[in-house]
Amino acid sequence: MQLFQLIYKSKKRENFPSEFIPKFTQKLCSRNEAKGITGILLFDGEYFLQVLEGDQKQVMSLMSQIEADERHNEITVILKEPIPKREHRDWGMKLILTSKNLINPLTQEIIKITDYLRTDRSVDTSKASKIIQAFTNGLWTNSNSSEERQSDKLLDSQIIALPTKLAAEKHCFAFQPIYDAYNEQICCLEGLIRGDNGESPAEIFSGLTKSEVYTLDMESKFSAINHFCRQEFNGMLSLNLLPGTLFENQNAVYKLVEHCQGRGLAPERLIFEITEQEAFINLGDFMLIVDQIRATGIKVAIDDFGSGYAGLSLLSKIQPHILKIDRSIISKIHLSGPQQAIVEAMKHISDRLGIEVVAEGVETLNEFDWLLQRGIQYYQGYYFASPMSGNFSVVDKN
Ligand code: C2E
Ligand code: MN
Ligand code: MN
Repeated sequence: MQLFQLIYKSKKRENFPSEFIPKFTQKLCSRNEAKGITGILLFDGEYFLQVLEGDQKQVMSLMSQIEADERHNEITVILKEPIPKREHRDWGMKLILTSKNLINPLTQEIIKITDYLRTDRSVDTSKASKIIQAFTNGLWTNSNSSEERQSDKLLDSQIIALPTKLAAEKHCFAFQPIYDAYNEQICCLEGLIRGDNGESPAEIFSGLTKSEVYTLDMESKFSAINHFCRQEFNGMLSLNLLPGTLFENQNAVYKLVEHCQGRGLAPERLIFEITEQEAFINLGDFMLIVDQIRATGIKVAIDDFGSGYAGLSLLSKIQPHILKIDRSIISKIHLSGPQQAIVEAMKHISDRLGIEVVAEGVETLNEFDWLLQRGIQYYQGYYFASPMSGNFSVVDKN
């Protein structure tokens, strides 16, 4: 059975009285229970947002019923993808009222969204919970509300030192930190391949045939994971992978997951970064692989977003967990109207879809300052830290 998560929003029809909703939810509950479907239903007095989790076929057939239901309209599917485990198992199909105006709630079963969000749950960082927050912030309902969400937390310039306890491996990697400006800490390290003498990825890959590139890309990831696991760091590991690497090496995803598990690294701590141009070559197959990745719990990032031509189409089809905005759009952003408009729009799109945004190639305080004021949480770039090779010079290769 493949677990599946589907999230949609819809609008209640005028002729369906709100007072009926709790009763109606109870009915839904037993119907869904019989199909092994769990989730939550949010209602703000006008719009619904529902999360459905269960067997893929059951969820899809339930969704057809939901679409045919005349008590609501404007049905918009927001997310539809495999998940490694249920996020709302113990919630059944509870009704959550998200608006303060909805007083006189009729039964004890109804909970307030603040209680839901406050509960200590492991799904706090999931796309679903972010979409739920976007819904409760009105991002899915009143289309032109531009909410003020400016952060007043401006940071002093800071360079972050990393532990450099690295050991010899077959392939060398440098690691560059990704900085979480809200929690003021490094949340992730991106592994960047290096040659034995510090050669750049471009230099390493340039002399190789396509299939040699795919083999090296795959094999080097085991080294990167080994390096990472030796560091005293409990954040995420982000790895660059060509879509071709995942196609051409049989069971690539599972081999990597197995390797991680053998080293005590949960797949949930892994991010696969894919660049848009390569992915677009074979979108159909690529989407299948992306689903495979998601089903293991590994997160998917679109890398260098905005550097190519397939950006928005790929984004709408793949819906990654993370969008890394390319350096070309970030560089000197405090001076450029068009770049600012693009980043603000990307942030707005990402908020509505539960996607995290990383600004790549931040080199100056001015850039960081501008981005932070627009609510960008994650940063990568020389301003924070360069890729670091630590001391794993290739002394003792195996
Ligand atoms: P990327 O994934 O976008 O990685 C970020 C690149 O930007 C890195 O270059 C990094 O050194 C550079 N960078 C980071 N911050 C700044 C900044 O503030 N300013 C400037 N000017 N540059 C910055 P690097 O290490 O040369 O890597 C280049 C590309 O090679 C990577 O771009 C990635 O697409 C690819 N790559 C690296 N490792 C691998 C790998 O293991 N497999 C595959 N398939 N590709 C890899
Ligand atoms: Mn990358
Ligand atoms: Mn990049």
